[in-house]
Amino acid sequence: MCETVKTPIETRHILDKLEAQHPGADTELHHRNAFELLVATILSAQSTDQRVNMVTPALFKRYPDAGALAKATTDDLERLIHSTGFFRAKSKALLGMAKALVEQHRGNVPADMTALTALPGVGRKTANVVLGHALGVPGLPVDRHVLRVSNRIGIADSDDPETVEEQLGRVLPKARWTRTSDTLILHGRRICKPKPLCDQCAVQDDCDYFGTVVQPVTHEERRSHPANQPPPRLRRSAEGSAKAEASAKAEAGSHIRRRAKVPKATRRR
Ligand code: SF4
Repeated sequence: MCETVKTPIETRHILDKLEAQHPGADTELHHRNAFELLVATILSAQSTDQRVNMVTPALFKRYPDAGALAKATTDDLERLIHSTGFFRAKSKALLGMAKALVEQHRGNVPADMTALTALPGVGRKTANVVLGHALGVPGLPVDRHVLRVSNRIGIADSDDPETVEEQLGRVLPKARWTRTSDTLILHGRRICKPKPLCDQCAVQDDCDYFGTVVQPVTHEERRSHPANQPPPRLRRSAEGSAKAEASAKAEAGSHIRRRAKVPKATRRR
């Protein structure tokens, strides 16, 4: 395991705190079965769950299953999903996915990662969403929120979603995978936004990003106290993107609790 990633016990303890902050975290995409969740998740790319939820009632009424969707015309489908954005690509993916379900799976959504990711328009994240929420198969979807939050806290160390999925999955029981993803997604949407609301965060004391980037530690203090160095995964944002960080801190600075880990004797007066 990478030395900058927290231990399994620390990771589970952090997720306990986040689950307490976001009780009942679940997908916000409305669905009644695996087919509807598969369609909604494909539509959610580059869109919001709220926007998708506005579109799917009419879509599912008109095309309630794979057999019906496979017979849809491109024009009608594009009209129904237009407001979710990228409607041409999504329409093509939905039609291809529905036809593949009919031809290869008798219209059913397979409860298998390999079979799901072989469907047009279905990547690993979408497959994990459907497996974990609608098919009873452990799945840990890693989206941009899970990537950002897990790397900031220090429970993962990679920009690659599949690597983060593997790192988190390795230290968590399978029964926690889907809830962990939902919790980290909610935390990323509500609290640990690109400009994080650290003063509202339940894991501030556990967070590498807060300890090494958000809290004001001077360059001189960092040099004299190696423990204050940001982990490698955070160094780019801490030093290389100083402008972006300054902007984020200005936005959040008024309510970020300030603290320094260095001894008083070494602080600049
Ligand atoms: S302390 Fe700040 S950066 Fe760390 S997880 Fe919480 S909101 Fe995100």
